Amino acid sequence: MSPKNQHSRILLSKNESGAVGFCEACDVVEMEIGAISLRVDSLSLDLLSRLLNEAAQCLKILKVEKAGFIQTALTECNLH
Ligand SMILES: [Zn+2]
Repeated sequence: MSPKNQHSRILLSKNESGAVGFCEACDVVEMEIGAISLRVDSLSLDLLSRLLNEAAQCLKILKVEKAGFIQTALTECNLH
């Protein structure tokens, strides 16, 4: 692998929580979230995105219907 600073990154997305850049040469997506830096290959980004979306949806359900969450989780938040 080449040293980190030799490659320029394309900024894919950025908001209050962090930034996501892409190194074309390495085919690596780099997420900067606070002090944490996470690198995944570009093919994993879509899976990771779905994972986070699903978690966010389940968290909303959890907050809305805390009492019935176990039942909801069994039907809607199952891992396939
Ligand atoms: Zn690179």
